[in-house]
Order: sequence, then structure tokens, then C-alpha cells
Amino acid sequence: MIEKTEAIVLAVRPFSRTSLMVTWLTRDFGRIVTPVRGANRPKSHFLGQIDIAYRSELLFYIRNSNGVHNIRETTPLDYRDGLRGNWRNAVAADYICSLTAQSVETLLDAQGLYGDLDSALSTLAAGADAVDAVIRYEFALAGRLGISPDFSHCRECPSRTRDRCRFAIPDGHLTCPLRNGFSYSSDTVALEPGLLEALRQVKGGAPVSAVGGECALGVRRFMGMFLSHHLDLPLQSRRAAFAWLSLPANATAGA
Ligand SMILES: [Zn+2]
Repeated sequence: MIEKTEAIVLAVRPFSRTSLMVTWLTRDFGRIVTPVRGANRPKSHFLGQIDIAYRSELLFYIRNSNGVHNIRETTPLDYRDGLRGNWRNAVAADYICSLTAQSVETLLDAQGLYGDLDSALSTLAAGADAVDAVIRYEFALAGRLGISPDFSHCRECPSRTRDRCRFAIPDGHLTCPLRNGFSYSSDTVALEPGLLEALRQVKGGAPVSAVGGECALGVRRFMGMFLSHHLDLPLQSRRAAFAWLSLPANATAGA
């Protein structure tokens, strides 16, 4: 049966000399994978039609299998042209696509996430700050996956001092060393009051660039720890992306 939907290209990898394996986030079917045979042959009608971050119309043959389906045709609706002359934003777009490919299960109802990703990529293509867009999308993704960190006040404080509370990464909320049975472990981290406030603001929609240098770095590191714990992913692509993004804005990609 042929299905038609809109989809964003999350990842493209070669699977033979001329063929590609393409991962998509579809609006209506969650994440799917389509082999594209002969995609790199000069006469292939797929040539130039598929690249990371494109938003496209996709026709495919749906099968009841592990999320792998045969593609019929695809037509790009948005090439994200703005990413072409802006390597920082292209790095950011590539990373959020790869993060989505790794963390979203097949056939998850992903309509909300599809909108979040499309809007993050459009923002990047329009020239928004790359780090702001990445962090905002990571918070949105965590929310859609039901693992949003909760930065509200510690509910375990026996006193109301709230000055020693730590964040329990696995539980996703603040926890209190003063309560019975608490044990220090690498799963809990201390958050300075300034950083905690910054995390609240960024979760609430403030751009991370607005919270100031030290705290911005803290927010970034916190999300790295949090996502790698909850998504059970090796986040090398995140480290690589932030290494690029920490280069000065006027650096060139070849430098
Ligand atoms: Zn507490």
C-alpha cells in the first residue's frame, strides 16, 4: 500500500556503491528508514532530491516490518537554503537531525516532534543563533519523549533551606541530601543557584545566550549529561557539534 506524507531527512548513509539508506522523521508515521537503490547513479531520479534537513513530500510502500519501507518518490518542499552559506547553523542542523534519528523509536506518534524539528531547522536556516536553537530543541525533544527535567523546588527538604539540594539525573528532579536514606552518587549533581535559575529560564523558553557565559555553559553541560543518561546514547555527535560551535563566528569551515 502506498502512503503519502511529509518528512524531514534525518540521516543519509551509503549502503552500497550507488545506494543510500535514508532515515526520515515523517509527520504521520514517526521515524522510518528507506533504502534508496541506485540513488547515486547519474540518471537516478533521486539524484539531488535527498539531503539532511530537507522537508519533503514522501511516497513510500508501507510494510509491517521494523520501520524499513521502500520509497516510491520524494520531492523536496524546503531545501533549507539558508544553511548552505552558514556552516555553524549547518553543523547545528546536522546534529539535531542525528539526535532525532537516534532517539525516536519507529512508529512513535511524532506529529508534535515533527513540528518542533521543522521549526528548529527553519529557525537555523533563517540565521538564528546555533547554540540557542540546539538547546531549545533538546528541551523540546526531552518534553516530547516524556523525560523533561523538572527544576521546581526540592520537595524532599526536611527544612526549607534549599541550599544543599542536588539534581537526581535518573529521577529528573531535585533531591535532598538532608533526607533519610540519601546517598551521594555520580547520579546526582550539585547545581549552583544561578545555574538552577538559568535552567528554569531556558526550559521556559529563554534563549540560552541570554543567561550569561558561565550559566550558558552549565546549561549546555547539564543537557549533555541528562540526555546521555536518559536516551542511552553515545553523544559523540553532540560533543563534535559543540566543538565546532565554540570556534569563533568568523572561522571558516576549512580552517
Ligand atoms: Zn532539598
